[in-house]
Amino acid sequence: MTSMHSPHRQQVLDALGIERWQLRAGGEPAEAVAEPVMAEAVAPPPAPAARPAAPPPAAPRSPPVAPAASPRPAAPPVQGRAAPAPAPLIEVPADWEGLRAVVKDCRQCKLCQTRTQTVFGVGVETAPLMVVGEGPGADEDAQGEPFVGRAGKLLDEMLKAIGHSRRENTYIANVVKCRPPGNRDPETDEVESCRPYLEQQIRLVRPRLIVGLGRIAAQRLLNSTDPLSRLRGPLYHYGPDQTPLLITYHPAYLLRSPREKAKSWEDLKKVHRFLRTGSLT
Ligand code: SF4
Repeated sequence: MTSMHSPHRQQVLDALGIERWQLRAGGEPAEAVAEPVMAEAVAPPPAPAARPAAPPPAAPRSPPVAPAASPRPAAPPVQGRAAPAPAPLIEVPADWEGLRAVVKDCRQCKLCQTRTQTVFGVGVETAPLMVVGEGPGADEDAQGEPFVGRAGKLLDEMLKAIGHSRRENTYIANVVKCRPPGNRDPETDEVESCRPYLEQQIRLVRPRLIVGLGRIAAQRLLNSTDPLSRLRGPLYHYGPDQTPLLITYHPAYLLRSPREKAKSWEDLKKVHRFLRTGSLT
């Protein structure tokens, strides 16, 4: 993890609307923004090294899997939980090379008809932090990499503020790998068709923490219809490996709503703290 004292930090904090931020003697960020009130009941925090001891499956291909695994959030329970739509069985390769090849040519949902190319994911394949967004936009569809437009630049700045980057210690993916036309929200059947790929990426990365960006990613990861304001805050656990999961704002939303940047900064501090200590407190 890189130092949080970089000269660029002040620029980042300025961009996030934070006036000052200093490290305490113990290394914990201390800043003008008030600490978030952790009133929500949080599930018992996992040990700092939350990765399963067992290695990922060694077989070249896993058997067909039912893609709609039910994420189980910690308390409080998510309201308005939506029943996941039935999705086709997909044979999901258990290794990166095979998975990339299958996704590249995937035609499991109608988004394949309008995409320029699939956008698989980017970053360090053994990263402790995995960021999951909604889906590719126009820039991502053109370049084949997630988060490369203005929102991507802001995401990079946000990660940098907590000592992370897609080149060093973070993996970035989306809940759908193909651009929804006109930048509409991905539909339930599209997300469920694509979910096995995301779940296999999570299985291969084995992150200590997943951060879901924005309402769509949050609702799809949690099978919820609740607004982001209700989903943001608690620590959840996702998928068969019960990977810790936090929800925060999408950087595209922060570009449109700069007043929310202070709250986003609170979330980033939680991410930093969790990765350091295995706890939100
Ligand atoms: S969005 Fe996912 S499931 Fe749909 S075609 Fe693209 S890769 Fe396949």
